[in-house]
Amino acid sequence: MPMASRRIRYSSCGLARTAIRLRRWLPAAAGVWLATAPAAVEAAQFRPRATVRVVATGGTIANHPDGRLTAHELTDLVPAAGRYADVETEQFANLPSSSLTVEHWLALARRLNRLFSARRDLDGVVLTSGTDTLEETAYFLHLTVKTDRSIVVVGAMRPPNAPGYDGAANLLDAVRVAAAPASRNRGVVVVVNGEIHAARDVRKAHAQRLDSFDSGRNGVLGVVDADRIEYYRRPTRRHTRRTEFDVARLDRLPRVVLLTSYVGASGDLIRAARDLGADGVVVAAAGAGATTPDQADAIDEVIADGIVVVITTRTGGGRVPARLRRVPPPAGTADPRGAGRRVSGESLSAVKARVLLMLALTRTRDGAEIQRMFTMY
Ligand code: GLU
Repeated sequence: MPMASRRIRYSSCGLARTAIRLRRWLPAAAGVWLATAPAAVEAAQFRPRATVRVVATGGTIANHPDGRLTAHELTDLVPAAGRYADVETEQFANLPSSSLTVEHWLALARRLNRLFSARRDLDGVVLTSGTDTLEETAYFLHLTVKTDRSIVVVGAMRPPNAPGYDGAANLLDAVRVAAAPASRNRGVVVVVNGEIHAARDVRKAHAQRLDSFDSGRNGVLGVVDADRIEYYRRPTRRHTRRTEFDVARLDRLPRVVLLTSYVGASGDLIRAARDLGADGVVVAAAGAGATTPDQADAIDEVIADGIVVVITTRTGGGRVPARLRRVPPPAGTADPRGAGRRVSGESLSAVKARVLLMLALTRTRDGAEIQRMFTMY
């Protein structure tokens, strides 16, 4: 559902860029001369100019009280982006991230897949988003967009009219990251506050501050410094082009609800999820996967009714080990229905486990197979 599209071509500047352009057209002998030219040319790695498309979805980064800024108005705030790339814009939506739906996600993934397959010249996409649910959108795209090129999700904690608006700085950083060849093959990344986070790890860890985003104990993928982008690591789980999920023909996703464990929690809401037609349930359990006894009974009941239950931890870090069964099957029975169906969410947060479970359920309802996916992604 893209609403508008516009391309801005910023003028390039500096000896380095001129040299890069000449390098592309001059005969080999001139290329040899340029290869020995100043360090600035060397640093630019003789790379043709990048093209980056900013796709806007709304959020605080655009939420000016006089009216939400469009993708084009946002990029107008960062003319310096033209030093790094030809910047194009596209308005996909202009909503708070809490108003985005799973249908928006499906449309967005399809749009980005079409864009990357139609535009061989495109180096990367910067997606602007509200920060409240940004980590979920980033992980959904990390699992569904089939490209090795950069996808950078960016937001802001302060609106455009606030002193210290962080949107312009974050957007400039995001364009730099999207234009950088080093960003390829890292899946979807999130750029905020000078840091580059992996979509799988990143979380909004504070309600208000400029440094709200972190990646828990796994740490950042890299940083965006004034002089250059520095990466420290790569995501180790499968993502983007190498996932098995295909949303091209989907207009809805299976229904997965999220519930929490706490002292005295009854299993009623887990049973209610089944009664309301949920296909899957994610439980944000205590510690490394503990629930109350009544929740544990309810989980066994709904699993027996064919619902897939994924157990995550509410602690904010660490893994939930896979436990195939809570109790042994009754003597003399194989009880295949329950076996393997209580799926460990591994080290995914509960909200991201919901994203993966929705996608997993488009492929299978088999608990062992879904456990494989939670170990792989
Ligand atoms: N922080 C909100 C979000 O995540 C922004 C609210 C708004 O755009 O009105 O989208």
